[in-house]
Amino acid sequence: MRLNLTAAAIVLAASALVGCAGSTNTQQAEQQQGGVASEQVGQTEQVGQTEPEATATTSDDGGVFDAKMREYGLVDVSTLDKSIKVDLKYATTDNFVGKDMYNGLRKAYLTKETAERLVAALHDLQKVDPKYSFIIYDAARPKSVQQTMWNLVKGTPQQQYVANPSKGGAHNYGIAVDMSLTYGGEPVDMGTKFDNFTTDAHTTNELDLVKKGRISAEALKNRLLLRQALERHGFKVLDNEWWHFNSCPIEEARKNLRLLDF
Ligand SMILES: [Zn+2]
Repeated sequence: MRLNLTAAAIVLAASALVGCAGSTNTQQAEQQQGGVASEQVGQTEQVGQTEPEATATTSDDGGVFDAKMREYGLVDVSTLDKSIKVDLKYATTDNFVGKDMYNGLRKAYLTKETAERLVAALHDLQKVDPKYSFIIYDAARPKSVQQTMWNLVKGTPQQQYVANPSKGGAHNYGIAVDMSLTYGGEPVDMGTKFDNFTTDAHTTNELDLVKKGRISAEALKNRLLLRQALERHGFKVLDNEWWHFNSCPIEEARKNLRLLDF
């Protein structure tokens, strides 16, 4: 074991969520005073949109989505720490839909505050052991991609795992990150893969998962290590996805930040 389990198992009291305010997105949010109603109009327009020009982009700066992300004030998290790996699963066919839905986007964008807190969590962890780092499977997700996903899962059992694009989920505000831990550059055992839509991925009763042999004690230790590092910096994990962390409550994001409406 790389860390002792007792230390990793300490439940942190100081896990109160930090706010989403102070982003460069705030001013622009005011221009969107139509709120949900205007988003719904946007949603209708987005259906079936393919943006073929984005797929042809080969520059290092990526496609149309990259330019838009920067326009919305988001930050490419790997520029803040080079040890962070990015493997956007929805930009490959290795995802639950089996399609590349990211139109040339290959970088993990987050709000500046979210990215900075994520890197602060990483640096805490690297003080314990510098071989640790993060791998990011998904970060900011444009609303048009959310719509594509929604259309594909609507009416299927997977629907519960995809936020309805009409209001926008946490990924659509750049405050959510799907991620895991690496050690020496390799992803560690977390008990399941990313986007495993079974109870084995749940974070609510993990000791039971270990007892039943669904996940290993090592996997639980790794989950707790990742979670506690992030919770110290105000992130909160989802109940049904060990890999998904929000940097602030979605209600707060909807109030203060701009939906990635492209
Ligand atoms: Zn997620």
